[in-house]
Order: sequence, then structure tokens, then C-alpha cells
Amino acid sequence: MARKIGSRYTAHQVLGRGSVGTVWLGEGPEGPVAIKLLREDLAADQELVERFVQERTALLGLSHPRVVGVRDLVVDGDDLALVMDLVRGTDLRTRLDRERRLAPEAAVAIAADVADGLAAAHSAGVVHRDVKPENVLLDMQGPLGPGGAHPALLTDFGVARLVDAPRRTRATKIIGTPDYLAPEIVEGLPPRASVDIYALATVLYELLAGFTPFGGGHPGAILRRHVTETVAPLPGIPDELWQLLVQCLAKSPASRLRAAELAGRLRQLLPGLAGIPPLDVDEPGCEPEGPDPVPYEEPAQGTAPGAPRRAAVPLVHGSTPDSGRDTHTSMRVPSAEELAGGARGTARVPRASGERRPGSARHRTAAVRRRRAKLGAAAAALVAAAGLGGWLAFSDDDADTSQPGVEQSEDSPSGYGSGGTSG
Ligand code: ADP
Repeated sequence: MARKIGSRYTAHQVLGRGSVGTVWLGEGPEGPVAIKLLREDLAADQELVERFVQERTALLGLSHPRVVGVRDLVVDGDDLALVMDLVRGTDLRTRLDRERRLAPEAAVAIAADVADGLAAAHSAGVVHRDVKPENVLLDMQGPLGPGGAHPALLTDFGVARLVDAPRRTRATKIIGTPDYLAPEIVEGLPPRASVDIYALATVLYELLAGFTPFGGGHPGAILRRHVTETVAPLPGIPDELWQLLVQCLAKSPASRLRAAELAGRLRQLLPGLAGIPPLDVDEPGCEPEGPDPVPYEEPAQGTAPGAPRRAAVPLVHGSTPDSGRDTHTSMRVPSAEELAGGARGTARVPRASGERRPGSARHRTAAVRRRRAKLGAAAAALVAAAGLGGWLAFSDDDADTSQPGVEQSEDSPSGYGSGGTSG
């Protein structure tokens, strides 16, 4: 059933439903388009509509072959819609759910495309802040690239931030999806371009492994792992690719590569990855018991795959480590009080909801048993975490930049460091 959107567009058929609305296949004066119609409750929010209008220029301004362009913004009666380039294909999450793991060549080709899109955004002063497989679209009509990968395009620039910005109250919030959140965000630092690099490296790891390096269980536990845990090595991964991943998953933002250099380095690796099958990786929890957790240390350049991985423990008593993954773009950080309540055995922080997806199934029963045995250690960590609650949280006062809604990347050492020169 056709539906008019403003005076210039017609929506014909639903392409997909997301967290903020429904995406339609539509038609405009210049041909087919994708129209993201925001949920009614969002469109009815006057403040939100104003933020979108204020951000019009930033939303429309980004034009790059690896970025899904926003062509128009329609505010019409009850409708608030973003008119975007139509990408005929699927999103990366759908492909990952179907294939579980990608061959290294295809995974790296996709990551290189996304890195190209990020490089364009970052040089325009925009930080995406929500890089994840759901926000990568695969253009099935584009030419096949290395490893049979279709061109990948990054979408949803700035949208999550606009929708999630606090309204009347200045709630303490972290914007992003827990699995892909850089440690400095967890620590309350303002997000710079390097948070996108960390998120992209997490996506690449997930494409190769079938699970994210720090995902699984309660969102609070995921956040803690980003700050404290070392990334688990992937058996069979070519060393140079592993080095690149480790560098871009560095806890220190200054150690990560810039997007343009990451894209270039990934592309250099492609010829050497041709023909390598998807990695044969055990789900975490299937591997032999590792040593007890030790404090995190930034791995030295050249750390070989095969270093012992660290165990994950649930942060909140009563939470199930494999209960799924919160994929929302906005989550509340548990307050110190709530964390303290958890330490006393009262899990007042809501548990992550939603079904476990094949790509995030990082735990097995044996692991759960082992982790429960370590709950005593978790409780001790929790007491410490209670004291750190305020430290983990950041208010939007800190995160706001001159343009509400779209973060400005700063070409400064706090955004990136000298990592680009390392080999
Ligand atoms: P949300 O941001 O609200 O979560 P998404 O951007 O994930 O929504 O869109 C939901 C679905 O709509 C995606 O999985 C994808 O299949 C489809 N989609 C989104 N944008 C486009 C586009 N530009 N072209 C074609 N399909 C799209």
C-alpha cells in the first residue's frame, strides 16, 4: 500500500524494521530511495524534531561511496522521515547470522570499506558512535570484491545520538551498543574518532570469530570487560591481521590507527588472505580452563596469538552470563547504589533482554559452571565497581559538543595517537 511522505516522496513497501522506525522502499523525484520513517512516539516529540531540523546540514552533508547518503529530511504532520540512498541488499548482521563466520578475505574487504567510510566521516568532523553489523549495509548489486564480498556501506550517522539525546532530564547515559563500546567511553571520556576504530575492529573480530571479543551476559559485565580484559586470540588467524586487530582494540585510544590508514593496511593484507577458509574457532567457554584473571596489560606489539585468554564473570549476582546481548543504542549505566545492591545479592539492574543470536553465543554450560564458581571473585570486583560507579558514568554535559547530535572528531592526540606509524 503506497503512502505519501511529504510532498515529494511515496513509500511503497517495508524493507525492514529497526529500533527507531521502519525503513520503506520509496520513490522520489530522482528515483528509488529508502525512507526511514521514525516511530510515531519519536516523531511526536517536538524537541526531537527540532534537533533533527538543527542537524539537517550535518545529516545531509556526508557524501561518500561507502556511506549511505541522507538525501532529505521530511517533517510533515505526524511524519518524521529520513530519505536515504537505496541500498539493494542486506545488512551485515543478517549475513553474519546466516554464515556465522566469514572467510578472512571477505571479512577484511568489508572492514576496509567501512574504514573508508569512517575516514570520510572523520575528516568531515563526524564521529559515528554506533558502528556495528546492523549499521553496515551490503550492496548486492555492486561489483563483487575480494573474497566475494559485496561493497559495504556505513549507515545511521548521527541518528542514534539524535534520538538518544536526553530530553528534560540529564540522565546519565552511555550511547552505543555495549559489545562495540570503546573503553574510554566506559570510563567517561568524550568520544573521539578512535571509538569508531575500536568498534570497527570489534566488528572485524566478530566477522572472523562468530562472536565479539567482550560480549555476552549483562551489559555491565560487557562494559567491565572492555576496560579490564585482554582480547582472546583467534587460532589460525594470520599474524599481520591479528596485529592490526590488537592495535585497533587497544585500550588506549592513542594506540589505535586512524581510519584511512586502517583501510589501507587492511587492503594490503587482502592478497595474502585469498583462499583462506573461515577460522575454526571454538566458542569461548569450550576452550580448556585458562589461568585465573590477571590485571589487564596492553599487549605489546607483536604479541603472538595463543596467549592465555581471561575468564569472564558476571558482574551482577543472579545475572546469566549467556542471557543474550543488549543491542540498544542507549543504555543506562548502573549507579553506584545499584551496583552496591547487586553486591549484596539484590540484582536491581535490569538484565539484558532479547534472544541470543548465533553470532553472540559465546558461552556454554561448562563455562557457566566455571564462572559461577568464580562468583566470589565477581562479588569482590563488584564492591570495587560500586566505588567506581560514578567514574564509569558520564553525563551528557561532558559528551555534548558544539553541535548537538553529531559528535565532532578532533584531530588531536586525545582522538588518535601515533599508532598510524607502527608496522
Ligand atoms: P534502525 O536504525 O531504526 O535500527 P535500520 O537502519 O537498522 O533501522 O534499518 C532496518 C532495516 O532496514 C535494515 O536491516 C535494512 O535491511 C533496511 N535498510 C535500512 N536502510 C536501508 C537503505 N538505505 N537501503 C535499503 N535498506 C535499508
